[in-house]
Amino acid sequence: MPGTSETRYQRRRERAIAAFGERGIGALVVGPGSDLAYLAGYRIGTSERLTALVLTADGGSTLVVPGLEAPRARVAAPGLPLREWQETDDPHALVAGLIGPARTPEARVVVIGDQLWAAFLLRLQELLPGQRFRPASEITRGLRARKDPDELAALREVGASADRAYARVRDLEFAGRREDEVGADIARILREEGHEEVTFTIVASGANGASPHHHTGTRTIGKGDAVVLDFGGTRGWYCSDITRTVVVGEPDAELVRVHDLVRRAQEAGYEAAREGAAARDVDAAARAVISEGGYGERFIHRLGHGIGLDGHEHPYLVSSNDERLERGMAFSIEPGIYLPGRFGVRIEDIAAIGADGRAQPFNVADHALARVR
Ligand code: ZN
Ligand code: ZN
Ligand code: ZN
Repeated sequence: MPGTSETRYQRRRERAIAAFGERGIGALVVGPGSDLAYLAGYRIGTSERLTALVLTADGGSTLVVPGLEAPRARVAAPGLPLREWQETDDPHALVAGLIGPARTPEARVVVIGDQLWAAFLLRLQELLPGQRFRPASEITRGLRARKDPDELAALREVGASADRAYARVRDLEFAGRREDEVGADIARILREEGHEEVTFTIVASGANGASPHHHTGTRTIGKGDAVVLDFGGTRGWYCSDITRTVVVGEPDAELVRVHDLVRRAQEAGYEAAREGAAARDVDAAARAVISEGGYGERFIHRLGHGIGLDGHEHPYLVSSNDERLERGMAFSIEPGIYLPGRFGVRIEDIAAIGADGRAQPFNVADHALARVR
């Protein structure tokens, strides 16, 4: 995150090099994005000018940057050797030179940023015909999933900011207003409560709520509507993501029942999310509550996703994932029930496995079905 000491990034790079070195991988190359932010403390948008961090098994760390970005990179990553390239240089040759030829027959693997543009990878493949390329997430996902105390503090802080925003969102006027108008209010409130960026504001009213990733639109919200509110952004580079479902006026009996079921499913998820538990079993524990309530078919997505520098990252709480939860892992717990043509209900918190081995919530905003105007 911005303003933190260079030694932390140095340590992360050393951990990354140890992790890939021990698997016989020769180098790790990542471009702009969260892996670069994690390993170098440098955040920059993607562009046609190649920026890449190159780590090699012999301990080398080099940031390859376009000359015009070098002043910024030097400030952001003061401890990292820079290799600048000028407008007419070939940055791919520079990166290929740092990776070097495969040192041994076993060390012919380079892991490369999952989000690095294909155009860059294709050039590197031409320049390094002896190397095999695999995704860098093989290495970075394990490092990034286990948050250090500063990262957990950042997630807690951005979560508290989202909680404060929700408390104010409940006082907004809903009836007679369009989803996108309410969404704009939520974005403003998130900034006022400390978010530096707002990434998404889902306002899914009435039947729109049955689509989990509904795109906030022009529907006018009416009396009796359930409204799924799912919003988040960043503060200090770390992401928030919270969902609450509210009702305009008085709910009908089925909405009350469905909301209660989702709430109990989330509690079961919290209960199951412990150090050593398999991710799939946490999903199963929450899903069982909804299935027993008769709505199993209507819980149409995984229970949760990891969160950190990216809004969605490892570990994923999904039935196909037998990965074990560890202390410091942070993730969403977000069961939902979606009734096509009618309404949806979702409740989402961010939580992390704490020192006691149990899931500690970073969102504690009231979970009840709030009545709004
Ligand atoms: Zn989502
Ligand atoms: Zn969400
Ligand atoms: Zn989420």
